[in-house]
Amino acid sequence: MSPLAARRRTIRASSVARALAIIGDRWSLLIIATAFQGVRRFDDWRRGLGVATNVLSERLNRLVASGCLARVPARSGQRRHEYRLTPMGAAFYPTALMIWRFDRRWSRHRRLQPGALVHTHCGALMMPTLVCAGCRRPLSAREVRYEAGPGAGLDRMAPPRAVRRTKAQPEQAAAVATLVGELVNFLGDRWTPQVLAAFFVGAHRYEEIRRETRIATNLLADRLRVLTEHGLLERRPGRERPHRHEYALTAKGMDVYPVILTLLQWGDRWLAGRGGPPLLLCHRPCGRPLAPVVVCDCCGGELDPHEVSFRRPRSRLRPAL
Ligand SMILES: [Zn+2]
Ligand SMILES: [Zn+2]
Repeated sequence: MSPLAARRRTIRASSVARALAIIGDRWSLLIIATAFQGVRRFDDWRRGLGVATNVLSERLNRLVASGCLARVPARSGQRRHEYRLTPMGAAFYPTALMIWRFDRRWSRHRRLQPGALVHTHCGALMMPTLVCAGCRRPLSAREVRYEAGPGAGLDRMAPPRAVRRTKAQPEQAAAVATLVGELVNFLGDRWTPQVLAAFFVGAHRYEEIRRETRIATNLLADRLRVLTEHGLLERRPGRERPHRHEYALTAKGMDVYPVILTLLQWGDRWLAGRGGPPLLLCHRPCGRPLAPVVVCDCCGGELDPHEVSFRRPRSRLRPAL
């Protein structure tokens, strides 16, 4: 391989990219999300999600190989085995909640999502909210400082997925959109989360985003266009050179931040290895290393899957979380 080709096959080490290489496609996210509601069996996923047998089989095998699910003997005895969330898979819960939150606030299919989350601990209908464990303030990208961590460097780019885009069948599309929504399309793309993450560390201009992400210009231009079309970014005149435009996150784009932060936390915890986290985060208001936690916006209590239920009137679909 030429040095140039070798360089092209690396990206900046990122816990978010590592997390998404494992979990960042529509079906894997849906499998994990429904596992939090107690789905354990192949046939239940196949029927509940309307996913093809071979695709489901491949995704389950991958989730087992990566350590998110464990294949265990079934309790009932009739079936040979079932799948359970490992501690690594269970630790994905904050991200699943933040994805639900984003879709609840922004999905174009909001009318298809009549459900609500109930915190059974306090009995309230609630919106899961990401706060700093140290000072309990809700987290905003502007209040977080970044510096290179011990694991900073370059990662080899994950190989392309065998099935890059799995389109749901038309009759299932609405069901799938109801469950996870449009954000999954962005998370399932190799580059889009990298582009969004660049904004969260302060990039605005094309060159800055390119330096941060190391993406080829045509791919970057395409992702910026799609994110602008979907209302996550807006173009504006440059602050220093008004004739050259730059990009900024909209309110909707800002709302991806909790998803990215929980992915980063998950990647740091499970995928950083001996090298340590590639990026260190500090919460400016309290000055402590950032430890995000998801809480109930009514009582402030930390959310546990056993204390959250999904209220969904008159539906045959399985709940999202
Ligand atoms: Zn804090
Ligand atoms: Zn509560």
